[in-house]
Amino acid sequence: MRIALKIDVDTHEGLKTGVPAMAAMLRREGVSASFFVAMGPDNSGKAIRRAITNRGFLSKMFRTRAVSMYGWRTIVSGTLLKARPVAMAFPGLLRDLAAAGFEVGVHGYDHVRWQDRLDQLAEPEMQQEIADAFEVHRAIFAEPPRAWAAPGWRINGLAMRLLDRAGLLYRSDTRGIAPFRPQVDGEPLSTPEIPTTLPTLDEVLGREKLPDAASVARFYQRQMNPGALNVHTVHAETEGIGQLESFTLLVRGLREAGAQFLRMDQAAMQLDRESLPVCPVVRGLLPGRSGWVAIQGA
Ligand SMILES: [Zn+2]
Repeated sequence: MRIALKIDVDTHEGLKTGVPAMAAMLRREGVSASFFVAMGPDNSGKAIRRAITNRGFLSKMFRTRAVSMYGWRTIVSGTLLKARPVAMAFPGLLRDLAAAGFEVGVHGYDHVRWQDRLDQLAEPEMQQEIADAFEVHRAIFAEPPRAWAAPGWRINGLAMRLLDRAGLLYRSDTRGIAPFRPQVDGEPLSTPEIPTTLPTLDEVLGREKLPDAASVARFYQRQMNPGALNVHTVHAETEGIGQLESFTLLVRGLREAGAQFLRMDQAAMQLDRESLPVCPVVRGLLPGRSGWVAIQGA
């Protein structure tokens, strides 16, 4: 059983607190992973605020779990207070991560802007979003990125075509079942797409009766497809902070069950681009998640 852990880092706090904790745990377990980091500002306060709806924002903050899940500073980042940078605030941490053998890829520039306004971005704006993300990566690592994972699993034809010109090793923008080459307007692109194959923890907790960390770990072990490349996306903001125990049990359980952990770039290098299936990318809804995501089509 092969499994790739895709760790999305959406926020300043996620990178500062969640990533070091996850990296330390993964090193203790002898497991590698791929981190995808938002390269631009942390505007997550805007997204959290909108998710809770604008009316009665502050009182709802107290009643819901938002404060314990995100912390106050993240909630006001980009709303009451200036947005904090994500990647650029911790260049040394990111370089250490790569030096320790983890993969570090790009998770967009402004995560919230991409996720909420993707279809409203005109070509020059989208090109700028991509160019800014690449520029920050170059500033930190002195080389261009080799992998891109779209914020919120949201991608459209224009973005796929622009990114296809970037000469990436692979992308991971969608939810699906197996690696493929996306097709846009009937034309196959050249960059392979490695989809996330498993549901995320926030999707699962909303619909499954999983009272403790051990039951969450057992649930995921049952979801694994022994014959395929399993790609599991976790978040530095959740599995790296409040759900670290659950994530640790999952990693340990899978390792003890004989799973082979590999980085997504290692999986990508094993792919033969010419023999990959060509699939359209469609939009759909997933149980436990609000709003559309990009899904591997038939
Ligand atoms: Zn994200």
